[in-house]
Amino acid sequence: VQATGLEFPAAETQQTPLNLATLGRVRVLRALTGRPALSRAELVRTTGLARATVGSVIDDLIDAGLVRKTGQAPASSVRTGRPPQLLSLEPRAGHALGLDIGHDHVRAVLTDLVGTTLWDESVRLAVDDDPDGALDTAVTLLDRAIGETGANRDRILGLGLGIACPVDKATGALHAEGIMPGWLGMRPAEELARRTGLSARIINDANAGVLAERRFGAARDCANVVYLRLSSGIGAGVLCDGRMLQGRGGLAGELGHVTVEPHGDVCRCGNRGCLETVASPPAIAALLARSWRRPVNSTELTELLQEGDRGTLRAVEDAGEAVGRALAFTAMLLNPELIVVGGDLAAAGDALFEPMRRSLARNTMTSHAELRIVPSSLGDSAGVRGAAALVLETAPERLSQILVPVQRGGIDISASK
Ligand SMILES: [Zn+2]
Repeated sequence: VQATGLEFPAAETQQTPLNLATLGRVRVLRALTGRPALSRAELVRTTGLARATVGSVIDDLIDAGLVRKTGQAPASSVRTGRPPQLLSLEPRAGHALGLDIGHDHVRAVLTDLVGTTLWDESVRLAVDDDPDGALDTAVTLLDRAIGETGANRDRILGLGLGIACPVDKATGALHAEGIMPGWLGMRPAEELARRTGLSARIINDANAGVLAERRFGAARDCANVVYLRLSSGIGAGVLCDGRMLQGRGGLAGELGHVTVEPHGDVCRCGNRGCLETVASPPAIAALLARSWRRPVNSTELTELLQEGDRGTLRAVEDAGEAVGRALAFTAMLLNPELIVVGGDLAAAGDALFEPMRRSLARNTMTSHAELRIVPSSLGDSAGVRGAAALVLETAPERLSQILVPVQRGGIDISASK
């Protein structure tokens, strides 16, 4: 996946042009990114660099503590001689911060270089009309993440932000009209870069979700994926031939605002009968509240389903049917190999997935029969882990620049825990 999301560099960052030695390191680090381990011969094949170049780059990277030897390939993989030494990234050589700002929460993670979560906390907060409160909370969480893990600040490669709002890919401003009204005109990544001194990237949360599923979750090794997030906001992230589809203004994938009931409820976006008014947990809870004449909280839905409540079951099935129809259009347009469904409503399980699969099959050509639709394997952490993955995409370039001073006598990275 190519680097996605607009970047706001930290004020003190200087963009050093890459020299040839650095380029070699970038290629080797990129080859090792996202793979458990490779031999030198495999690195020669993957990078297209000469064997001697790979050898000297690897020596540099091992000296700098960025790459480590991780045992030998299984003996069965070679016909004669000693099995080759395997090499992999040193996970603790760098860190990434991820932030997920949703309608009702701010969540932060700190990960190592391979995306393993080392710190993870969430604060519940009504975000839509309170950007200052949300950004203050975010900065507090990030400071705590760094403090409590003892991560070396110089080894934090950046901050990725996933937000429950479409993001203009050219400016980083939010298309906040009707979605997060208090954030109109704001550029939260720019603001966070200013307040933290870290370079920051921003992306819509469903796009962050598809990055995470591709890198860590249900969509590993898939190049054509739709990730659908069914929470109080509904949106899709799309990978098409391995590239993220964002469209002209970054509005691609706004499936939550496709009309599925022409005479349905008026949506917060101003249209009628959007998928979000039918298939988001708050919409289902509101439907039940109307007939039961008592308040229903969307967090009760899973419990009601487990109790076998018929009204809830029916409402979730109808939601699944509507989602399936919207996904059918998506499938006909994009021909994905996999649809991953995440967000709060995915916890409904078969009650949601069976009608969704039926409706998808009924509304697509039979040649789409091999299209799989599966629940997210990352659950509600997909957004925040994807936000950190945005930073990890740029890790090879950043690490190879950190390494430049090594030629002048080495830097001490032993302080990074
Ligand atoms: Zn709408």
